[in-house]
Amino acid sequence: MSAPLNYIGGRWQAALDGGSFERRNPADPSDLIGAFPASKAADALAAIEGVDGARRAWAATDAEQRQRVLERTADLILARLDALARELTREEGKVLASATQEWRRTAANFRLYASEAHRTLGETFANSGAGVTYSVREPVGIVLAITPWNFPVSIPSRKIGPALATGNGVIYKPSELTPLAGQRMVELLLEAGLPPGVIALVQGYGADVGDTLVGSAKVGAVTFTGSYPTGRRIHQAAGPDKRLQLEMGGKNPCVVLADADPARAAQIAAQGAFSLTGQACTATSRVLVVGDIYDAVVREIVARARAYRLGNGLDPQVTMGPLASEAQQRKVEDMIAAGKAEGLRVACGAQDLDSPLPPQGHFVAPTVFVDVPPSSRLSREEIFGPVVCVSRAASYEEAIAQANAVDYGLAASIVTRDMGRALAFAADIDAGIVKVNSATGGVALNAPFGGFKHSSNQTNKEQAGHGVMDFYTRTKSVYLAT
Ligand code: NAD
Repeated sequence: MSAPLNYIGGRWQAALDGGSFERRNPADPSDLIGAFPASKAADALAAIEGVDGARRAWAATDAEQRQRVLERTADLILARLDALARELTREEGKVLASATQEWRRTAANFRLYASEAHRTLGETFANSGAGVTYSVREPVGIVLAITPWNFPVSIPSRKIGPALATGNGVIYKPSELTPLAGQRMVELLLEAGLPPGVIALVQGYGADVGDTLVGSAKVGAVTFTGSYPTGRRIHQAAGPDKRLQLEMGGKNPCVVLADADPARAAQIAAQGAFSLTGQACTATSRVLVVGDIYDAVVREIVARARAYRLGNGLDPQVTMGPLASEAQQRKVEDMIAAGKAEGLRVACGAQDLDSPLPPQGHFVAPTVFVDVPPSSRLSREEIFGPVVCVSRAASYEEAIAQANAVDYGLAASIVTRDMGRALAFAADIDAGIVKVNSATGGVALNAPFGGFKHSSNQTNKEQAGHGVMDFYTRTKSVYLAT
């Protein structure tokens, strides 16, 4: 591994003021991942200047060269899959199978966007006068990608991939919780042949560099994935003339109808709630059960929650990793405490697990709250941990009303044998992703991905679809007369 550095102006370098921050393994905080540059405004400005100097040459390369760089990046990832996945587990905490799957998806994203390099198409228009009128799509210039820690390589790949395919320069600001994954991504792209300077890596805390990067007139588009409060802040810093893609949080419901098999419903709900330790924007946070299968569904969810084995994700016996940081652990523990203070009943918590919690690391037990009213904080706020709230609904209509009574609208699922109801649900629910008889989490490579309300600003949703490529290009209309 190279030393943990920023990559700015085609050179690996420390923060200009020499500042650094540490990242530690969340399953074992005595394991130091590294000390990374704590960038400040001066580093951000240098990154902007560096990419601005290199981007035009990249925009002028032919599509085949841009395609090759992205394809080679995918090849390198697959050739080193095991080592990359182990490193991701060590840094972020997710179990090895999830880390492996994430790097695989990252390679697949690069391949998908490699092929898009050839599809930057314009149009010609009927013209009443002499000559020809046509439109061209050109890169927006510099794309700023700001990303979270929970999918620290696959989310960046669906921003950096389309940005580079269409000839943009990129400033990449990874999460301060996954700086090593950020560095790996840039190393791989450079090894694959990306010319020096076309990408800049700015490590550190968003609050230190965000306003400088987002507010720069030289940055043509900002693509952000993270929490709603940060998205709001970025929206303010960007001003009215900046192209912005904001993909944010969720409070995702799983509705279980009375005709569902309780075991299957619980499997779908528990998978949605507890995969990735509940740290997915699409995680199931609320289970709304209609009818008298409620107790059976709760029993089955609790049985699944108890059976998780928590520990270091490199251990093949382990089925749930830690929270990504001490701050995340405290946040989730505070929400659990808030639920208990409201008088909510816990059907499964730390004392109920079949295997004990590890003595060190940022672990929180899978937790099941039951009979949670819609007015509870736990029913409304994103928790981002392995906590699920089960509630009763008297009817399908009441379940829909509860499901939609939150500020977010990212993903939702329904478990039922009644396909008529399932189709009605797809129409009635305020969510950008609707699942029928499968968990809220887990999305296709080639379908648009994003939510409604506080979950997204609705600008050319991330991941596949024509809208993605539109976000990374701007249209110019040319009137040609001889
Ligand atoms: P976060 O908002 O704390 O941070 C995200 C990124 O923004 C980080 O790189 C951070 O350094 C940066 N940042 C922080 N302050 C900034 C500022 N003032 N200006 C510019 N950048 C700033 O989010 P997180 O804790 O890393 O991730 C968890 C959140 O992300 C959850 O809310 C989750 O639902 C959401 N998320 C959404 C999706 C989606 O596709 N909708 C996917 C994954 C995660």
